[in-house]
Amino acid sequence: MKIGSHVSVSAPDYLLGAVQEALSYEANALMIYTGPPQNTRRKAVSEMKIAQAHAMMEEHGIAATSMIVHAPYIINLANVVREETFTLAVEFLAKEIERVKEIGATVLVLHPGSHVGAGEQEGLDRIISGLDLAMEQIGSIQIALETMAGKGSELGYRFEQLRYLMDHAKYGDHLRVCLDTCHIHDAGYDLTQFDEILAQFDSVIGLERLACLHINDSKNIRGAHKDRHANIGFGEIGFHDLCKIVHHPKLQETVKILETPYVDGHAPYRHEIAMLKKGVFEPELLEHIRREEA
Ligand code: FE
Ligand code: FE
Ligand code: ZN
Repeated sequence: MKIGSHVSVSAPDYLLGAVQEALSYEANALMIYTGPPQNTRRKAVSEMKIAQAHAMMEEHGIAATSMIVHAPYIINLANVVREETFTLAVEFLAKEIERVKEIGATVLVLHPGSHVGAGEQEGLDRIISGLDLAMEQIGSIQIALETMAGKGSELGYRFEQLRYLMDHAKYGDHLRVCLDTCHIHDAGYDLTQFDEILAQFDSVIGLERLACLHINDSKNIRGAHKDRHANIGFGEIGFHDLCKIVHHPKLQETVKILETPYVDGHAPYRHEIAMLKKGVFEPELLEHIRREEA
């Protein structure tokens, strides 16, 4: 099983620190942002200790394909209303693709975008224009469009919308999907029927295009369109169904990433990964984090 979590890239060790953080959770996969997810200020990649990070990954048997990069949320390719937001998004995404290459990763997760009132069809077509411009130097990188909760005017909350983007983008062959359990639950998919969801995914998108999974519980009921992540087993999806997904025979090779919230300032990932691997819900592990804090 390839499972890990979001880890941070920060001074002084940057990518090497990110790998060390992942190892401290007993993870064999990781997801990073190349800088703060909410802004576009970025450190020069040359200072990010990339070679050391890869050496450490190799030493611990973590493949480069198990290191996922997530683009910052502020990239909104669907913005039809403000031209400068769109231009900024295109430029930033193109640079982000370059950074992914330099970092030595292969998959870049991207939120498709929010149409901010222009309407879904216009938003989707705008995303396609943006991808066409930003992906000119895509090389061998894959962009994994994330399934979204449909909060506000977010696009990508139906598999069909992602399919539309893949079919119409110039570099559609480089588009993949990142399936987020919290998001699809919030979008209305019934995770108690996960085999049906996978069958639907396969017929609409194709299972071979599933690049990675985000494993999160949800604070809200199915169809709430909220996007608030809960710790594994503490939300509306529940441990049982999340565990089934993580151990699904068709997803054995797929990288799984946790993006669950910190508990009293502590990362829950070591415990959550252990529970999921074992297949046993041990809520007291998170209580234990709280006690460590006290
Ligand atoms: Fe995301
Ligand atoms: Fe996610
Ligand atoms: Zn989310």
